[in-house]
Amino acid sequence: MEKRKIVIAANWKMNTNLDEAVELASEMLFELSEIDSVETILCPPFISLQKLKELFTDTRIKLGAQNVFYEEKGAFTGEISALMLHDLCQYVIIGHSERRQYFCETDEIVQKKLASAVNLGIKPIFCVGENLEQYQSEQTEEVIITQLTRGLSGLKLPDILIAYEPIWAIGTGQAASAVEANEVASLIRRTFGELFGLDAAGVLPVLYGGSVNADNIAEYVSKTDIDGALVGGASLKSSQFVSIIKRV
Ligand code: PGA
Repeated sequence: MEKRKIVIAANWKMNTNLDEAVELASEMLFELSEIDSVETILCPPFISLQKLKELFTDTRIKLGAQNVFYEEKGAFTGEISALMLHDLCQYVIIGHSERRQYFCETDEIVQKKLASAVNLGIKPIFCVGENLEQYQSEQTEEVIITQLTRGLSGLKLPDILIAYEPIWAIGTGQAASAVEANEVASLIRRTFGELFGLDAAGVLPVLYGGSVNADNIAEYVSKTDIDGALVGGASLKSSQFVSIIKRV
């Protein structure tokens, strides 16, 4: 089986204006330009994608968007489509719990967004995860399988990454244990295998997200089914994000 490359993706969420994004990205680029062993992806706000694309030309750092709308163009005020993004970035975060929670994104909407991104050749970082109540009542497995099967329905062998992000671990400092995260990562791989075959499951990058930092990253990536991380808070400081990548 081909060895899966470690992926570390930064989700800057709604932080940084253009100048701040360029400064942060430049600091990271300076530290990370020599590192080839980790696939590094920065997901800044939309307004900074063009500038960072210029900054990262001929470097190993990749770019991602934090959202996409599923129609290609038309009267959808305020939205950004995969057609607009596909020459700006290689990745897009889809299904993040903050979008599900604050912007009422259902599994059906997530599915359409995934299909649209995949059709335009943008790799989705598809986020799934249970909330605290579901975790405490041991519904994690059911929630994950439902989100995966609904989100991926109708897609044909998508080129995709899946991030397990338990909602209770996001931005709370209460990271899931590496053992627990790995169990869910294995479940994700198994479910993906049932949908798309064992070969596809074997090369699927599965990330963990939720309070990842330089102190806990090594443990996650030492696990069999975790291939990296989606990092929020700790990706907003160059030194912290660089340490995470160096400790992989
Ligand atoms: P966090 O966020 O690292 O701040 O917990 C992760 C995410 O929301 O992707």
